Amino acid sequence: MTRTWIVPNWVMIDERPLLKNFTTLGLAEPLLRAIAAEGYTTPTPIQQEVIPALLADEDVLGIAQTGTGKTAAFVLPLLHRFSELAARPQGGTCRALILTPTRELASQIAANIKAYGQFTKVTTVEIVGGVKPGPQIRALKNGADIVVATPGRLEDHVRTGVLKLNDISAIVLDEADQMLDLGFAPSIRRIISKLPRSRQTILLSATMPKQIHKLATDLLTNPVEISVTPVSRPIERIDQTVLAIDSAAKRDALIRYVSGTKIDRAIVFTRTKRGADKVKKFLVNAGYEAEAIHGNKSQAQRERALNAFRKGDTRLLIATDIAARGIDVDDISHVINYDLPEVAEVYVHRIGRTARAGKSGIAMSLCAPAEDGLLKAIEKLTKTQIKTDDQRTEGHTEAPVQKATSQPQRKPNAKRKRRVRRQADNATGNTANGKQQRSRGPELPTAGLDRIMKKRAKRPDTRPR
Ligand code: AMP
Repeated sequence: MTRTWIVPNWVMIDERPLLKNFTTLGLAEPLLRAIAAEGYTTPTPIQQEVIPALLADEDVLGIAQTGTGKTAAFVLPLLHRFSELAARPQGGTCRALILTPTRELASQIAANIKAYGQFTKVTTVEIVGGVKPGPQIRALKNGADIVVATPGRLEDHVRTGVLKLNDISAIVLDEADQMLDLGFAPSIRRIISKLPRSRQTILLSATMPKQIHKLATDLLTNPVEISVTPVSRPIERIDQTVLAIDSAAKRDALIRYVSGTKIDRAIVFTRTKRGADKVKKFLVNAGYEAEAIHGNKSQAQRERALNAFRKGDTRLLIATDIAARGIDVDDISHVINYDLPEVAEVYVHRIGRTARAGKSGIAMSLCAPAEDGLLKAIEKLTKTQIKTDDQRTEGHTEAPVQKATSQPQRKPNAKRKRRVRRQADNATGNTANGKQQRSRGPELPTAGLDRIMKKRAKRPDTRPR
């Protein structure tokens, strides 16, 4: 039987009675020390619900976005379990597997495991594409308690016999909706078919489309279901504004905004990889430090850009949606939408990069006339009317951008599958020959955008250059 808790949005933590602290959750002492060292005093709602369920060996289905504390929610119980084992894992095996859609998210989770497990002997290996396999092969030879991986490269190591999955007692599918969007469903099912039947399965997803529901039904046994931060409600602490502007004026408007605003750290979202490079270029030409990350950048370039952003050397990070998933940087004061996303839910994910861990944040969106339909869809989804400053010149008209759909669903065909696979390779850096792949196509956050992009390709491009 499925048990369901509906946990209120985590920004409402102040208004909700705090039932548990980390000590009463029953976590081992070395973990409590690490949690204190991280400065966490109170478990977030998802942690309050998921940690006891996982410690009790239950399967968990969690609907939660990044920013809710979901990583610690599944990592701490794994660390707790493995820190109490005296025996080391066998060579070429692991005890838990965490699958993620992107390299960035994998690195982020591995970094969190190291931080939370710093006073334990639990070992972690990160397996992602876009880097040489040699060091991964050497690390896997010793075995690991936890492997954090993107599906493509993990399958490579399983295929060559470098990693055996028969000792796994827990699997986590993180950001499952994005893994499906990237075409990883067959890969996930192949991987799961190689795991022992008796295991714990944890599935976390920001949204709950039909395919995720089906995957959960197939893979989980009597799961505890937990839902935080429904995607249709953006975090209340974000101050959202729209600047209605002609598309040709976007560039100057962004420069004006950046020069006239006190920004600690901002992510500027663009719809395409080329767009990200262009925005970076004109910001740098205008005298600002800016870095761009997207699927065409090598792993080393992405890491350099992210480190500069994390350290505060660069205050402006220009990103496409896929590249931005998994960026866990605190203190992002602003999210700027240079282009509005074509799928309304993506807007909620974007602005959720700010106002994390209970802080407030600012989201500013530039909206050209062609994007009015997208803005309407966002307002409808979020049930808010966003404050709009209209600076358009009168009489300006543009062909509208295809209206965003709420939950794009489309039957895959072979051509689309190939394209989605290419996008997945860009995100994970995984290619058949192990080399970094370079694609010039648009980087799309969700599967249904294909159709929109195809339609748009037939019309003259009205977006700013
Ligand atoms: P996540 O949703 O896992 O990406 O976590 C979002 C952010 O919240 C990260 O920066 C974590 O370090 C932080 N965080 C996680 N748990 C807590 C907690 N209990 N108290 C304060 N911050 C937390």
